[in-house]
Amino acid sequence: MGQATRTTILLLDLGQRTQGGANSDKRAFLEATMQVLNAARAFYVDFFLAHADKLSERVSYYSQKHLEMRERAISANELLTWAECHTVATTEHPHPWPGWNFRERFPDMPLVYRRSVIKDAIGKVRAYLSHRRTWEQTGKRKGKPGLPGANNHPSLYQGTIELSMGQAEQRERFVRLNVYTGACWRWVNYPVRSSRYFERRHSEAGWEQQSPRLVLRKKSAELHCSQTKAITAKKVNESKADPHLVTVAVDLNVKNLAVITVRQDGKIIETVFVTDRGLDAHRYRHLKRIAKKQWLSGKPVKGEHSNQQLWGHVRRMNEDATHKVARGIAKVCAKYPGCVLLFERLRKIKATGASKSRRMNRKQANQLRGKINQKAREKAFVAGVVTVEVNAHGTSQYCSRCGAKGERFSYQGGTRIKAKWGKLFWCPVCHYEANADYNASANVHHSFYREWHWQSRKKAPPQAAPSG
Ligand SMILES: [Zn+2]
Repeated sequence: MGQATRTTILLLDLGQRTQGGANSDKRAFLEATMQVLNAARAFYVDFFLAHADKLSERVSYYSQKHLEMRERAISANELLTWAECHTVATTEHPHPWPGWNFRERFPDMPLVYRRSVIKDAIGKVRAYLSHRRTWEQTGKRKGKPGLPGANNHPSLYQGTIELSMGQAEQRERFVRLNVYTGACWRWVNYPVRSSRYFERRHSEAGWEQQSPRLVLRKKSAELHCSQTKAITAKKVNESKADPHLVTVAVDLNVKNLAVITVRQDGKIIETVFVTDRGLDAHRYRHLKRIAKKQWLSGKPVKGEHSNQQLWGHVRRMNEDATHKVARGIAKVCAKYPGCVLLFERLRKIKATGASKSRRMNRKQANQLRGKINQKAREKAFVAGVVTVEVNAHGTSQYCSRCGAKGERFSYQGGTRIKAKWGKLFWCPVCHYEANADYNASANVHHSFYREWHWQSRKKAPPQAAPSG
């Protein structure tokens, strides 16, 4: 049993008023709401930091299961009630603690928003305190965790948002938000740029809606709507008992973004190459330009981000590739119900290279591999496919046919050159010759089944892990 999560973005229409977009006032309301919520969160972050002992309080309760009094950590809900009790004046508690009168500073803030910022603040302060505790235990001077920040994309819980979908015409779809105008709170309609894609995902059966988050960007405002779905998937050990188990192995690389091989009964039954379609070279050209500009302008100005447009372009290219490759992997998995998806444990490859642009490009490629891995797992899990990370040691050095250690080579101008980066693989024992990435992908299966080189040894030989 597990849970899959996915997020769909709904854009608020901030275009021209004449073309049905929200006007600049409404845009300003969103900013004001964000600011006031950040301030309110900061209020409670300070409040909990000032009363940090309360967060580690133990509560005794009567356990029905064990039929005795037991102790447990204080829950977030109890903390919330406690915080409201001492910061918000009510008929039962007319006098908040001096200096902590919430209503005085944030009059008329809707209760739902107040509770959401308290919950956020509890999470932030708890995380900070636990980080600090681990840091203190290490006894190091360096790496002291900083105080928690108060900024967050606010969650819009029920009571602050009304989303009407389905019945209205495409052009007249609105989302009603309870926003701060700078003087008071009120409900405002925002036109949305809904699409068939969003609506299909929004109303798909089996997915449960979570509260959306409001994300304000420089030029746009988005609602990030998450959904969750309960997934029943077989345990890997159970799957492994099946003699005809299908395994889908993925080898992630730079030029061949992913080499997917499918194996059943000891035979590779399908192979898919997903190339980067020139992404690596394209990205390299841009990074060369960025590196040159950085070199010309000398030291970067602190707190200023340069080359924003180029970086944005590179980021979007990477994101696009991530989704496409992950989809390709999920599509192959969908063909074989009950299969297991295999990845190599991602090694940290040092971004080395002659030039700065090459190093930057390598770094980007590494990040891309990590993202593809993560997205592909998520997409496969929705279909009930479990992912296993296998030992990556030597997958590109050993022969996938006989298990002997081979070598990598390439042809340059008709002559055969032995090189670590060679595109081809050659086995001196059985004279097997194949694409090196394909060979590595086929070896991932061997690693999963612990065959040959990947047999479980009693004692690991004492050696530094060489890069595979
Ligand atoms: Zn061989």
